[in-house]
Amino acid sequence: MTTTDVKLKTYLNYINGEWVASETRKTGTSNNPANKDEIVGFYQLSSSNDFHQAATSARAAQKEWQKLSGNVRGDYLLKAASILEERIDEVATIMTKEMGKTFPEAKGETARGVAILRYYAGEGMRSNGDVIPSSDSGALMFTSRVPLGVVGIVTPWNFPVAIPLWKMAPALIYGNTVVIKPASETAITCAKVIECLHDAGIPLGVVNMVTGKGSVIGQDIVEHREIDGISFTGSNAVGKQLAYTAVSRGIKYQLEMGGKNPVIVANDADLDLAVDATISGGLKSSGQKCTATSRVIVQNDVYDKFKEKLLRKVEEITVGDGLEEGTWMGPLVSEEQLNTVLEYIEIGKDEGAKLLVGGNKPLNAVDGHYVEPTVFEDVSPNMRIAREEIFGPVLALMKVDTLEEALTMANDSEYGLSASIFTTNISNMLSFMEDMDAGMVRVNAESAGVELQAPFGGMKQSSSHSREQGRASMEFYTNVKTVFVKG
Ligand code: NAP
Repeated sequence: MTTTDVKLKTYLNYINGEWVASETRKTGTSNNPANKDEIVGFYQLSSSNDFHQAATSARAAQKEWQKLSGNVRGDYLLKAASILEERIDEVATIMTKEMGKTFPEAKGETARGVAILRYYAGEGMRSNGDVIPSSDSGALMFTSRVPLGVVGIVTPWNFPVAIPLWKMAPALIYGNTVVIKPASETAITCAKVIECLHDAGIPLGVVNMVTGKGSVIGQDIVEHREIDGISFTGSNAVGKQLAYTAVSRGIKYQLEMGGKNPVIVANDADLDLAVDATISGGLKSSGQKCTATSRVIVQNDVYDKFKEKLLRKVEEITVGDGLEEGTWMGPLVSEEQLNTVLEYIEIGKDEGAKLLVGGNKPLNAVDGHYVEPTVFEDVSPNMRIAREEIFGPVLALMKVDTLEEALTMANDSEYGLSASIFTTNISNMLSFMEDMDAGMVRVNAESAGVELQAPFGGMKQSSSHSREQGRASMEFYTNVKTVFVKG
């Protein structure tokens, strides 16, 4: 399909319940990374003033939204969930076209979006405070959770349905109104999610979406006087920049950033399980997950066997357009991302790591931003490919004698998002659970794929402040009010 075959749609901002064009009258183009010539659609390149309109409408709507009971707010989320479920194929197709993950993965993510909305709808009916015994007899003392007010949300392109929803759904259920700025690469997918909330009849101004370049309007989100808190997922550099401003304004912020996630394969591991989980955790979505497996630390005795099994399976991976049946791994999201990954592969070779498989654009890569699944060995901990987030389908194999050595190596990172061990020995499991410095520690399971009702987040440079997902998200999206009543 090319631009001449389809009627292309221009997607608008969503402000105060209406679809509106930016005052700039400029649009950005969303391209299909599997086929560079295919335009998916156009999105608004907004200005600071567009953002101002959205933040002002979110402020105007906030008190009334807060005053609705939790179950009424939850009903809107339930309606939006049903609408998203009905449109699952449409939304997943747009997602695959905008960012390249395969259609089954995109469908799985959209289904997760549905489940997130339903989960948080239920939160509207759950308790959110504590009764605290007072030393003053006859007095009642308790805490209640109140919304922050207006929350600014900035999201990346790699989970363009799940991440916007796992921020917006808790924000809304706890009584906040929101302005979201999605990643430019996946602005249209986000617009599809907003359409579901709109069609669910969510009151005017409660949800607002402004698209455009982060480098142009991103700072406005955190600087604007109507924004009471900011939740960001994306790169370390941008996250820190937003945090400085949030601190200087004294508003709450929450950051989810990068990872360099290790997997340890112990001598006693089930090797088939370890291989499958390493491939799935490291190469699905072309390695563009913050929780993607990146460093694979294998004990000596099983190293050769593990490597042989791993390479056999990596060589079977089919790379292609994610909408085509039989494709296991799609393209990278953009030319920029492709160039970054290819550059890291060159860096790995220059630093002396041994390229075992992959490392190039595949032969069918003329039309899209494809790279082969790539595995290096002889990677030492000080190499850049062992330290820096690549965000592509590149695995670094590292060999160790002991599990202590493996843990030291796994912890030798400025990141601490997710980490896995493969072992059948309970003491190995226990020491990993205790000593691994990561926010999500997994045993005999891939590093990616934390369930939506469990807290999500990392340590060190991976995350900042309270966790996302599950009940943990209440920490960020509410403030505590301590109430004392003397009869
Ligand atoms: P990014 O460049 O930081 O972009 C993330 C968002 O920030 C986008 O909406 C972007 O807008 C916006 N942005 C860019 N510059 C900005 C600025 N100066 N001020 C405010 N906002 C700005 O990150 P990305 O490349 O999209 O995503 C990849 C990164 O996200 C990786 O590091 C990955 O590990 C991380 N990530 C982390 C998690 C997690 O939960 N820990 C999950 C997913 C991804 P534009 O698109 O318009 O530039």
